[in-house]
Amino acid sequence: MVRYLNYNTVLKSEFSERVQKISINAGFTCPNRDGSKGTGGCTYCNNQTFSPDYCKPAKSVSQQLEEGIAFFNHKYEAQKYLAYFQSYTNTYDKLENLTQIYEEALNNPKVVGIVIGTRPDCVSDELLDYFAELNKRYYVMIEFT
Ligand code: SF4
Repeated sequence: MVRYLNYNTVLKSEFSERVQKISINAGFTCPNRDGSKGTGGCTYCNNQTFSPDYCKPAKSVSQQLEEGIAFFNHKYEAQKYLAYFQSYTNTYDKLENLTQIYEEALNNPKVVGIVIGTRPDCVSDELLDYFAELNKRYYVMIEFT
């Protein structure tokens, strides 16, 4: 018996079908990398180790999603997807740029929500308001690290 609430159980309680996260590298950087707070990044921050082949910032968000979905569609027939903005700090840009990037992902009819990896000092009140609004129509999960 599992004595903690794991993420699969959370997703099963939210959705009636299998849901798979698709990693996206939207080309963000991070204050610990671009010199505003530091350079070089955290020692454990090596995106190459967990990024699949299709996940490259040279490709558009739509293309990364399509390739990721094509990969997982071979494994599981009926399922929906979450766009997982995983690499670096995925709220580190102007609000209008961010909303454009997230909504490009949500335009894919198989995508039912977004998961966003970020840090608390890079999330504005305006962005939180946007997420609250978005969450009325889509699943929204923010990962703070
Ligand atoms: S993205 Fe996160 S883990 Fe990577 S350097 Fe920035 S703060 Fe560190």
